Amino acid sequence: MRWRDASIGAVLCLGVPPLAMAATPLTTTQIAPGIYLHAGVQAEATAANEDAIANVGFIVGDASVLVVDPGGSAREGEDLRAAIRQVTDRPIRYVVMTHVHPDHIFGAAAFKEDGPEFIGHAKLPGSLAQRGAFYLRNLRRELGEAADGSEVIVPTHLVATTEAFDLGERIVTIRAHGPAHTDTDLSLLDERTRTLFLGDLLFVERIPVIDGSVVGWLHELDSLADFTAARAVPGHGPVAVDWPAALVPERRYLQKVVDGTRLAIRQGIDIGEAPRHVAIDEQRDWLLFEAYHARNVTAAFKELEWE
Ligand SMILES: [Zn+2]
Repeated sequence: MRWRDASIGAVLCLGVPPLAMAATPLTTTQIAPGIYLHAGVQAEATAANEDAIANVGFIVGDASVLVVDPGGSAREGEDLRAAIRQVTDRPIRYVVMTHVHPDHIFGAAAFKEDGPEFIGHAKLPGSLAQRGAFYLRNLRRELGEAADGSEVIVPTHLVATTEAFDLGERIVTIRAHGPAHTDTDLSLLDERTRTLFLGDLLFVERIPVIDGSVVGWLHELDSLADFTAARAVPGHGPVAVDWPAALVPERRYLQKVVDGTRLAIRQGIDIGEAPRHVAIDEQRDWLLFEAYHARNVTAAFKELEWE
């Protein structure tokens, strides 16, 4: 309890608002030396879960801490921040938002007081400008007062290709990907432990969501498969230690969506009907299939119909 007393004392001295003191540290697991992860629940966002549905974590270097991702609401972000302070008092210098989706970005507000670099894909500011206000209204509707404090944080540091960040004797390489899950996807590699954070470029157990380009996503998976990694952290689902084999179910699903949608287009099946014909045998293999599969086929149809 000693650390906790110390941190509450520090908070009081700095006059931080009551929200920070209400934080309940997220439960985390150390998945590799200095890398901590909180597993999101495999569900839709609700007030009860505070949109804590994505995997969130942090990497501790000799000089500083990097957060990936900050979580789905300011409350989750506060709880993640409290979990970090259980482990280390080193400065939180980087907060990475792996892509534009609400469950990965709205925790960022909780880290403003740390004055970190908020890191995002070069296309993230444009995407946030288009969707941010809508996402925030949606979050307030879904979470009610549990959304309090959540806001759109515009990234302060953009990654357009590949960039290395030094946490103190610990290099994390961040890559910007082409359109795939979204058009703002980043992946991170902790060079020391060969731990690969994939954001929602990788879904395990939960059905992948196509919001960028399904063809582009398959292409990005090909290049990611060439990486040597000791473990891979998906945006949703358990950590995979078998890499690149962990990609196989997702790649199979996405390829079936592409092949099935192309066939439907050739057969003159219309966009409204296509979801009932494409990749329906995948239903038993994925959580939340009913909620997202039809939407995925519709997205693939729009992408593929003019090929
Ligand atoms: Zn996502």
